[in-house]
Amino acid sequence: MSTTRTAVPNTAVHYFKAAADVLGRQRVGIYGHSRAVAWAQEDGVVADLGGGRCLGWVTRSWSQGETGSGYAALYQGTHNVSGPSGVQVDVNTVYAAQWGQAPITTTTTKETTTVDVSALPHVDQTLWLNRHYTPGRGGQAIKYIVRHHNAGMLTTQGCWDVWQSREASAHYQVEQSGRIGQLVRDTDTAWHAANLLRNQQSIGIEHANSGGATADWPISDATIQAGGRLAAELCLKHGLGRPEFGKNIRDHKETGSTACPYHLAAGGKYHAAWMKAAQDHYDTLTSQEDDMTPDQSAKLDAIYNQMAGGFENGKYPGFDINKLWEAAAAKGFRRLTMMEAVAVSTRASILIFDQLVGPEKDAKGPSFTGWDPDDLRASLAAKLAAGDNGTIAEQLQALVDGMATKKEA
Ligand SMILES: [Zn+2]
Repeated sequence: MSTTRTAVPNTAVHYFKAAADVLGRQRVGIYGHSRAVAWAQEDGVVADLGGGRCLGWVTRSWSQGETGSGYAALYQGTHNVSGPSGVQVDVNTVYAAQWGQAPITTTTTKETTTVDVSALPHVDQTLWLNRHYTPGRGGQAIKYIVRHHNAGMLTTQGCWDVWQSREASAHYQVEQSGRIGQLVRDTDTAWHAANLLRNQQSIGIEHANSGGATADWPISDATIQAGGRLAAELCLKHGLGRPEFGKNIRDHKETGSTACPYHLAAGGKYHAAWMKAAQDHYDTLTSQEDDMTPDQSAKLDAIYNQMAGGFENGKYPGFDINKLWEAAAAKGFRRLTMMEAVAVSTRASILIFDQLVGPEKDAKGPSFTGWDPDDLRASLAAKLAAGDNGTIAEQLQALVDGMATKKEA
């Protein structure tokens, strides 16, 4: 593909992003001219080796003297010198201990995707309550999140106002817009779960409603998403593990004294979306750059199983080479999928093998007589006379004849 700086963001970067999405960025590298490698690093689409280096292999061709010594992993500086057994080899300069010979082990990245837990959770506003909470947690550890809804359409300020007179509080308020306010510090005990020990062991998250009783207390999607994400960040910050209902995510109504958080409660119409937001965000925060997410890993397993076939009680029957071949033929062998191309290449290898072997071929497939040695010798002789070296099959026959001659001698 064309690798100008305009072509890279327009075209190539999408290819790399897709590869990184499926494989994980730490499994993606680039081979190209020095600028293409630098751009891939700048765009954050190839593995980061730490120390300002990326998994880039700079070729001398088109690099106009640049060697990538400051940011690449390898430089293909010398072409076509004699190597072992007369084989022509390239000589590379290795700049980094890791250059793609094994999975990249560092998790340091340019954008520092390693999560800084101390900066969590993301909060848009703090408005510390001055009453109706208890400093400290009475020696208890934080064990779970308790979900609430306002039964009201409050802002963070609105909560603060209500809790001036009402003997209640929660740590966080998620507003209708998804904006997050914090009113009680995580290290203090808020009064939200109707029980001292529960309060001491939990963090309370309030969710604003986007309509009142006549609308049956709806909650906006922005609030659901932000609430789930907030819970994920709190789970990570306090080491509670991946958000899981009944374990580290619980509902106010468990106390038996209320229906809160109503539609958001387990079994309610917002529960699944909220949990998904929480788990997805947790997965994003915890996925190391050199690890695949569970989704990516499952995709790769499915592809492998489908290629190999026969796994999981027939769930993966395996790709059918004949069907792939037929699909490729129907397209005129153009614009093939990867598996179609593999099937075509495999079938072609089998056909060549069959033709080489000749009459030994089994009776099921097309008949291969095998190349006739006399025909091959005759055609090779004619071609050599015309200054042509002949086909591979003709040369193979000449080789076989030469071996036979040597054996006789
Ligand atoms: Zn509640």
